[in-house]
Amino acid sequence: MRTLSREFTGYGWAPSTAELARTAGVDPMEVVRFDGNVAAMPLPSSRPGTIAGQLARINTYAHGGYPELVDAIARYAGVGPENVVLGAGADDLILLCGRAFAGPGDTVAVSDEPTYPLFQIAAWLAGAEVGADDPVLTFCCRPNNPTGALEPLPDARPLAVDEAYFEYAGETAVPLLDDGVIVIRTFSKAFGLAGARVGYALADAGTARELNARQAPCPVSSLSAALALAALESPPDVRPVVEERERLARALRAIGLEPLPSRGNFLFVPLAEPRALVDTLARQGLVVRVFPDGIRISVLDAADDDLLVEALARAFDKPSPVAAAGGRRVRRVRATAETRISTRLALDGASRVRVATGAGLYDHFLEQLAFHAGFDLILEGSGDVETGEHHTAEDAALALGEALDAALGDRRGIARYGNAVVPMDDALASVAVDLGGRPAAELGLEREPGLAAHMLSSFAQSARLALHVKATGRDEHHVAEASFKALGRALRVAVRREGDGVPSTKGLL
Ligand code: PMP
Repeated sequence: MRTLSREFTGYGWAPSTAELARTAGVDPMEVVRFDGNVAAMPLPSSRPGTIAGQLARINTYAHGGYPELVDAIARYAGVGPENVVLGAGADDLILLCGRAFAGPGDTVAVSDEPTYPLFQIAAWLAGAEVGADDPVLTFCCRPNNPTGALEPLPDARPLAVDEAYFEYAGETAVPLLDDGVIVIRTFSKAFGLAGARVGYALADAGTARELNARQAPCPVSSLSAALALAALESPPDVRPVVEERERLARALRAIGLEPLPSRGNFLFVPLAEPRALVDTLARQGLVVRVFPDGIRISVLDAADDDLLVEALARAFDKPSPVAAAGGRRVRRVRATAETRISTRLALDGASRVRVATGAGLYDHFLEQLAFHAGFDLILEGSGDVETGEHHTAEDAALALGEALDAALGDRRGIARYGNAVVPMDDALASVAVDLGGRPAAELGLEREPGLAAHMLSSFAQSARLALHVKATGRDEHHVAEASFKALGRALRVAVRREGDGVPSTKGLL
C-alpha cells in the first residue's frame, strides 16, 4: 500500500448503541444519543411505502443514475442539474474533492480548527499533507462542527464549503459557485436520512462534470435515492429545532454552563475536564460527544433534551431548571411494512402529551386518553394514510398499549382496577379496566366515526388489559371521544401504585 502522511489517523466512529447500552446496563432502546448531530426523528416521508417501488426493482442497476433526484436537488438549491454531484453522504463528497484536487506533494488547507476531522482525512488519503502553504484546495465548514460558529468565508480558492448544517443557519456559498467554490451538503441532518447516506456537491458545470467523472459509478443506492426524493417533496421546517436549541442553551446557562452561540443543530459547551462528566452521563444512557475541552450536544426535542438537562443539573448539584421527567418511563419504536411509530411514555407524568401520526381525529383520541390518564406521552410517526387511516390509527393504539405494558413492568403494587364515567355534551361513556394481564375488550359504543372501537380493542390487546366500555350519544365523535377520555380516567386510577404486593389473591398476575 502507498504510505500516507505520518500524521494520518482514520475516522474514529463513536461506539454502537448496543455497546453503549451494555456499558450503561440499560436496554438499547433507552439510550439517548446526543452525539450524532442528527434529527430527532425521521421525516414522515421516510417509511417503507416510500421505498417499496425501488425494492421491487432492487435486482437492477439504477441505469442512467437518478436524474429526477438531481433535478429536485437543483431546484431545492437554486442551481441547474449540471451543477450537481451525488454522493454517499457529504463524507463521500469530501473524499471526492480531496482526491480530485490533491495528490502526493500537495498541501490542503483546513480553516477553523477545531473542525470536522474528515477534511484532514480526505487530504491524507489523497497522499497530500495538511497545511497553510500554497494549498491546492481549502476546506471550511459553515456552520462549523463542533463549535456551531458561522465564520466568514475564507478568500482562498478553490474552496470546498461543507454546508452539512446549512438548513439550520440559512446561509450559503452557492452564489459563489462560479468563483471557485464547491458547496457540499447532505440529507443526513435536517432531512433525517443519516442512515441512508445521501449527499451532494454543487459546483460550476465544468467542475461538477470533472467531479462526476472521478466519482464512483453509482455511489447512492436506489432505496436511498427514493428516500431523498420523497424528502425533497416536502422539505423539513427546521424552525422548531432552532427554537429548541435556544431553549436548551438557556437551560444549560441556568445550571452554570456556557454553551457557545450556535447556528447548527448542536451546542458546544466548553469544560475544563469533560471526561468524568461524559462517563457519568453515559452510565444513565445519555451519550454526548466528548472533546478535550468540552462536550458537544445535539439538539433533539424538548422531552429528550430535558432528560439531559436534568442529568447535568444533578451532576453539577444544581436545581433542575426544567420540570422533572415522569417516572415509570419507556421508549419504544414499532415498525411494520405500513407504519413507523415511536412512543415515549411515562406513567407518573404531568399530562404533557403530543400525538402526531397523521391519523387526524384518532391522534386526538389518543391524546385525550393519555392526558386524562396523567401520562406524559409523545407518540410520533407516519403510516400509509394514502390507503386511509386504518393502519396508522390501529398501529398507534397498539404501540401505546405495548408501551403501557412495558412501563407497567411486572405490575406489582398497582391498584389494578379503575373505572370512570365521562359525559361529553350529548354523550356518556362508562369505562372499567382491569390491568390483571388478560386481554379482553367488551365494547358497546352506540356510534363512532369508524376506527374508535377497533383502536380500543387493539389497545386492550397489546396493553394486556380487560376493557369494558359502554357509551351512548347522538354525535359519533362525542361518543368516541368520551370513551377515550373515560379510559384515560380509569387508567389513572388503575396504574396508581399502592404498595409492593401483587394485586391478586392468586399471588400472581
Ligand atoms: N460534514 C460535517 C460538518 C458533519 O458534521 C458531518 C456529520 N458528522 C458530515 C459532513 C457527514 O455527513 P454525511 O452523513 O452526509 O456523510
